[in-house]
Amino acid sequence: MDELIRKGAALIRSAEKILVFSGAGLSTESGIPDFRSPGGLWSKYDPSDFYYQKIVADEGAREKYWKMSSESYGLMKDARPNQGHLAVKKLEDLGKLLAIVTQNIDNLHHKAGNSPEKIIEIHGTAFSVSCLRCGKRYDRDVIEGRIQSGTKVPYCDECSGILKPETISFGQAMPQEKMELAMRHARVCDLCLVLGSSLVVYPAASVPVQAGESGARLMIINRDETPLDRDADLVIRESIGRALGGIMEALGHSRERAV
Ligand SMILES: [Zn+2]
Repeated sequence: MDELIRKGAALIRSAEKILVFSGAGLSTESGIPDFRSPGGLWSKYDPSDFYYQKIVADEGAREKYWKMSSESYGLMKDARPNQGHLAVKKLEDLGKLLAIVTQNIDNLHHKAGNSPEKIIEIHGTAFSVSCLRCGKRYDRDVIEGRIQSGTKVPYCDECSGILKPETISFGQAMPQEKMELAMRHARVCDLCLVLGSSLVVYPAASVPVQAGESGARLMIINRDETPLDRDADLVIRESIGRALGGIMEALGHSRERAV
């Protein structure tokens, strides 16, 4: 482990434009279970019930969707950033962070204090809701309040349109502008730091692939193997908090207390 930490510290020390690519494994260390792990939401619900086209077409599907989505939001709402998120915040403080491209919808990079303009949520966010007809946006807690008081399927105040959390559902197009921005960063970063992503969900995973093809160094910290391990300059199969926390310590920055 010490040798890996030393190598990781050297990679970060020599980098000036770091692109962080984060996935579910970063958030599990904050107590948010991965949808796709055993015991995660997809072992309890059938993901094929939640295709965007079904949610839009059918009231019954929307009811099921809100039940699942509210349960998932309940797990995220009070979660706190962990050592891994705080280390990423530190990278921004050091002036080394180009951007964060995250597959997570849990707002934890924001809670860790990274600037909103550095955070590209390519799968959207669970923390706001919007109307599919008129675009009016709502704070998630406002809508959750209605659900707590008995509303099964919430609708827009302005136009009675269908409301949906601003997450990207199965069958829903990826936000094109965000993907383009992520790919632009991938082409110019000098180090791509993958945190807790198995790099199997596309097109998201094309971001670190592009970074590698454009000549950036690649460092992967993930519990499991990824298809990019062979191309990486460094792979650490460890807890992200421990590994990245250790790396920041080796760089002379003390570990932050989790906020
Ligand atoms: Zn509306």
